[in-house]
Amino acid sequence: MPITDPSAALEGDGATALRLDRAHVFHSWSAQAHLAPLALAGGSGCHVWDHDGRTWLDLSSQLVNVNIGHQHPRVVAAIQEQAAVLATIAPATANLTRGRAAQAVVRHAPPGFSKVFFTNGGADANENAIRMARLHTGRDKVVSHYRSYHGNTGAAVVATGDWRRVPNEYARGHVHVFGPYAYRSEFWSTSPEQESERALQHLAHVIAAEGPDSVAAILLESVPGTAGVLVPPPGYLAGVREIADRYGIVLILDEVMAGFGRTGTWFAFEQHGVVPDLVTFAKGVNSGYVPAGGVLISDAVAATFDDRVFPGGLTYSGHPLAMAAVVATIEAMEDELVVENAAAVGRTVIGPGLADLAARHAAVGEVRGTGVFWAVELVSDPVTRAPLPPATMAAIKAGLLARDVLPFVQDNRVHVVPPCIISPDEAREGLAVLDAVLTAVLEPSG
Ligand code: PLP
Repeated sequence: MPITDPSAALEGDGATALRLDRAHVFHSWSAQAHLAPLALAGGSGCHVWDHDGRTWLDLSSQLVNVNIGHQHPRVVAAIQEQAAVLATIAPATANLTRGRAAQAVVRHAPPGFSKVFFTNGGADANENAIRMARLHTGRDKVVSHYRSYHGNTGAAVVATGDWRRVPNEYARGHVHVFGPYAYRSEFWSTSPEQESERALQHLAHVIAAEGPDSVAAILLESVPGTAGVLVPPPGYLAGVREIADRYGIVLILDEVMAGFGRTGTWFAFEQHGVVPDLVTFAKGVNSGYVPAGGVLISDAVAATFDDRVFPGGLTYSGHPLAMAAVVATIEAMEDELVVENAAAVGRTVIGPGLADLAARHAAVGEVRGTGVFWAVELVSDPVTRAPLPPATMAAIKAGLLARDVLPFVQDNRVHVVPPCIISPDEAREGLAVLDAVLTAVLEPSG
């Protein structure tokens, strides 16, 4: 998509934006005294810009959600049109836009899924999926991965493996297991196949020890994202499906980050030949233009609630503006072959480009990913695989920003997660900047 003139979107002034932000905005996930946020004024396609018209190539998709790119005209128009007709309506009513949004999501679901429960985002999608699984099975426990992120509300943050240190009084019936991570294997495995097999044995042993009759759900990200784009090895998700079937456990796949094109297919699980019982989604479903998420429900689980109340829902569940954005986003992605683009750019540019980067920089321990969902794992020693220290990662992040690339940096990794619409040339440009920054920070004299 062409960059519209950044100067056309300028409004207000950057210094005022920063002054008001620091005076009155309490930021999430932050120590408030140590913030220096960018003040962004506008965007288009894969670019964002500040109040002075300086532009950045957005390799972060913000929080890995702007799959269709910034300011897609069709999505913006759909929100405006809906706002002019009916800006809000209670969830209990029937609404044409909401019905069309659910139909659009179901269009990309496997056979056997016809219902969607809409939420305000990813965390409450997981909350509701867990509740559905508990009511469906009459059991309590939920098994998830240590390396995972499922959201920052009551049950979702307890299911999250990455944040077990966050105190939570609701931590009830949650069990964690190690998932496959061949580069840092907990199982001493020497191949992806062995990693998969051993991780499955571990999962089966933990479930046996917990008591299979007490386990309601296995909740996994199809591709753990925030934890490092840990694409599961062949056979892992199929093996999890088998274990879930063996014990009558509901398999919930969290596609909040991986879904809606990011991995080069509509849902990541399609690439693993697996059909879950519940799918949670958010982010890419409408690229975050208006907050939305949901649970895609298999007919078997949905039937539990034919004659029984499902006790869940919020005032804004299925909000018409969010639903208008869902319909327009999915239709635009279909018409413009956005998912196909993500697959092609990943296969022909990002994958080979990052492999080349790994071959030339000793600090690149591993690159992994699919579609427009990649992580570059950086180490200070390729033999011990010790992660690059936080100060060096901060220098890499600053170097990328200084060269007009907006990165997603997490722990010792740079995630390359641009909008799914990225062109081959834009992807090449982003990788060239990453290459130059790694050289400048890690090999300054070379
Ligand atoms: N699940 C996954 C896999 C995520 O990546 C995220 C957010 O990054 C969430 C759930 C939580 O979504 P939200 O922030 O919309 O609540």
